[in-house]
Amino acid sequence: MKRHKMVNLCPTTYEIASKMKNFSKYVREQLLKQDERNTFQIKYHIFCPDHPDFYHEVDKVPVFMPHCITCNKEMVGKWVNV
Ligand SMILES: [Zn+2]
Repeated sequence: MKRHKMVNLCPTTYEIASKMKNFSKYVREQLLKQDERNTFQIKYHIFCPDHPDFYHEVDKVPVFMPHCITCNKEMVGKWVNV
């Protein structure tokens, strides 16, 4: 979900912002850096190598990796941005 927030720029910062390809993305990234523990953006994505459509997203690395309900293979995980 995207939401809008107006920013006020001075002539100099407006000039810089105008030259950026993706100003919104830049602002989002800077804002996320404020959140030092990255609590908003990072999830641990656990998925089956054979069935990537079957996955869970959790807040921390589980002690025991779950197994795929389809093939019973141990699932793998990685940190992802959400
Ligand atoms: Zn599987």
